[in-house]
Amino acid sequence: MFINISELISTPSKTENFTVPVNMEVYEWQGEHFPFREKGELVLNLSNAGVRKVHLEGHWKGSLGIPCDRCLKEVLVPFHVDLDEMIDLSSERQEDLADDSYVVENSIDTDALINHEILIRFPMKILCREDCKGICPKCGKDLNHGECGCDRVSPDPRMAAIQDIFKNFKEV
Ligand SMILES: [Zn+2]
Ligand SMILES: [Zn+2]
Repeated sequence: MFINISELISTPSKTENFTVPVNMEVYEWQGEHFPFREKGELVLNLSNAGVRKVHLEGHWKGSLGIPCDRCLKEVLVPFHVDLDEMIDLSSERQEDLADDSYVVENSIDTDALINHEILIRFPMKILCREDCKGICPKCGKDLNHGECGCDRVSPDPRMAAIQDIFKNFKEV
């Protein structure tokens, strides 16, 4: 949704409140898609803060389903966003506007705002549990559900090649 702030930036002491839904089904990052599992409404309080300046306060809570780095099982990852930002559209700052990617012309793109806030909070590592055993690289079984019986001592073919060299060396 786009919130037009033309009036806000030009009317001293004007304040407006908004409660807007999130219209996205997935969060997209580096070609991967993560579904929203919970998406609360974005609550925004906008107030004029001087010539072509708007003070933005608000909050949003939601969660994404992100696969565990080791076993690929989906993990529910919550995001709690508290906003307290100054949108400055005064002429001196026009060049810096690239930072505020969610401000387009004189409007706030609320989905872009949520995307931006998720991006800066996106966890580096996702594990379904600290000691997740992952999946067997040979048969694909989820090792959290028990052993599969595969010989995983040398899952890497390069390691296998090195072991062969040692074997040959011993035979000489
Ligand atoms: Zn896992
Ligand atoms: Zn296996």
